[in-house]
Formats: sequence, structure tokens, C-alpha cells
Amino acid sequence: MRAAMAAADVDDDVRGVDPTAHRFQAEMAALMGKEAALFVPSGTMGNLISVLVHCDVRGSEAILGDNSHIHLYENGGISTIGGVHPRAVRNNPDGTMDVDEIVAAIRHPDLHCPTTRLICLENTHGNSGGRCLSVEYTDKIGEIARSHGLKLHIDGARIFNASVALGVPVDRLVKAADSVSVCLSKGLGAPIGSVIVGSKVFIDKAKILRKTLGGGMRQVGVLCAAAHVAVRDTVGKLADDHRKAKSLADGLNKIGQFAVDSATVQTNMVFLDIVDSRISSDKLCQVLKKHNVLANPSSFTSVRLVLHYQISDNDVQYALTCFEKAVEELLLGGTRLESLVDGTTENLMGTSQI
Ligand SMILES: *Cc1c(COP(=O)(O)O)cnc(C)c1O
Repeated sequence: MRAAMAAADVDDDVRGVDPTAHRFQAEMAALMGKEAALFVPSGTMGNLISVLVHCDVRGSEAILGDNSHIHLYENGGISTIGGVHPRAVRNNPDGTMDVDEIVAAIRHPDLHCPTTRLICLENTHGNSGGRCLSVEYTDKIGEIARSHGLKLHIDGARIFNASVALGVPVDRLVKAADSVSVCLSKGLGAPIGSVIVGSKVFIDKAKILRKTLGGGMRQVGVLCAAAHVAVRDTVGKLADDHRKAKSLADGLNKIGQFAVDSATVQTNMVFLDIVDSRISSDKLCQVLKKHNVLANPSSFTSVRLVLHYQISDNDVQYALTCFEKAVEELLLGGTRLESLVDGTTENLMGTSQI
């Protein structure tokens, strides 16, 4: 990937003449089954641009999941920057929204109400543990969108994980969507960037917005060369990430203080529930970090773990031993801490060296 970046043939992409960017975008459009594609600096910008292109009249409303990335983690950009009103519909634990709740959220023309113009899905759904939305569900929502004159955007930051896990070609999976934002720099391993795909008209408008938002970049071929390698070489490794995630989940389930709902482990994410009230997710992650295992608390009692292709089977085994060690350390260390608070350090019973 670094060699491809160094060798990339580049020119000014703000003027639209970077050959490597052109080649990569054409490749992504073809792969995703859309007319055109545009490289953008981040998934957040990809989603923002997509929503703004579809909702180009102030007072537009976008229907999205109340547990979706766009709604929770993108600084409310669609409203603060775009003037788009979010209509949050309840996300089920599997990342879907109920079809009848989506239909009920679609506005009818009314002087008092914004105008619904867009439905957003997220696949895989991050906060649901990286679970996949099926092609049938996606098609159904696409049908609803079309029949109401709405557009469908998919936040497909991890759409390749969904495609691989479902065994559905990615272009088929997103067929019903008017636009898709795809992350290149998470599990696929490029250094920077996302790509958005859609019709030629959509991408022409997106290009203007990208420039407005400061996302037009000159010799961007350096990044597109890396992204090309990421898509070419890493998509084929995702199934392995999914297998390793399952083996991590199985191993964690054998540790008494933890529980993972294996049904939720469909792709490269594992959400771990801590079932021992003496262990907090924060402390657990701190101890793991000392052993070079990086994980994020997702609540006070749960931890989010993500696999990628550079994490080997041995690494998974190593991580599992670190979880065991961390439990030991926290349970014994907890006693020590409380004893110190009590001033009864003599109760340590020889555990202080752990
Ligand atoms: C990471 C992510 C984004 C945002 O991507 P950034 O590149 O971090 O801005 C959007 N949606 C989902 C589902 C993501 O996981």
C-alpha cells in the first residue's frame, strides 16, 4: 500500500484531473453498481454530503435510526450545517427500524411540518454490534422510499462486512439505495478516506458540496492509490475477521465474569457484557491497555471490541489470556483499593503485588 502511494500518478483533483482518483472512483462505482463515485476525506463528510444533496431544500426532513451513527455521532451536522431536520425512528436491537414505524414517520403535506425527503439506513449497524441488514429488508425500505417519492441513503461505512457476512454481492445489497457512503479506513485499512456512490447527477452535486465543506483535495491520488489497494486486498480477508470475532466471543463466554450474545456476532465486532458488578468497563479497558489490548467501553458494563486483518488468531488467543489476567487483577486489586480506603491495609493477604 505504501509503495502504491509512492508510485501514484497524481494531478489536481480539485480541477478533476487526478488520474489515480479518476481510476479509483470509476472502479468503486462499478463495484457498487452505481453510475459514479467520489472520494471524500471521511465517513462523516460522506454522510453529510449525501444527506445534503438529497435534502437540498431547507426544511427537509430525513428519517433515520435513533441509534444510528449519523444521528448520534456526527455532531448533528445534517441540521447544524444542512438545515435538515432529523426524524429519529426507534432502532431495533438488530439495527433495523420497523417498516410500519418508518411509514408512520413519513410526513403528509402540512403547513406545520417539514417535508420528508430521505430515509437513511446503516449497514452494518455499528451500535447493534455490527449486525447486517438483509438485502430483503433493504429492498423493502427502498420500495417504501420510491413509492413515497423519497430517496434512500445507506451509511455503509462497513457495507463490505455486511456483503461478506450475508454472502450477497455488494452491488446487489445496495441496489435499492440512491447513495451509499463506504469507509475505506476502518476494517479495509486505507490510511484516510471514504467514498460515496450514486447517480452521475448525485455525484455532480456532491462534488460541489465537498468543495464547500473543504473536502476538495489536490494530489488526492496518493490516498486513492492506498484505497485501491485496501479494496483489492482486504475485502477478501473480511470473512477471516468475522471468524476470529466469533472465536474471540466464544473464548470470552468461557470467562465467568463476561457474557457475549453470540447471535450478535455477525461481522468483526464483539460487544462484551460484564456480568460481575465489581468490574467496570473503564477499569477493564485500562488494564487491557497495559497488556496492549485496545478496547473501548461502550457503557458502564459493556466493552466494544473490533477485529481487523492484522489481528491474528494468536493475537486473539493472547487477548483472551489478557482478559483472564485483567479479571484476576481487577478482582484482587479491587479488594486492595477498598482496603486502602478503609485504612485496613493489613487485610491485603499478599495480593498487593498483582
Ligand atoms: C466510522 C463511521 C462513520 C464516520 O466515519 P468517519 O470517517 O469516522 O467520519 C459513519 N458511519 C458509521 C456506521 C461508522 O462506523
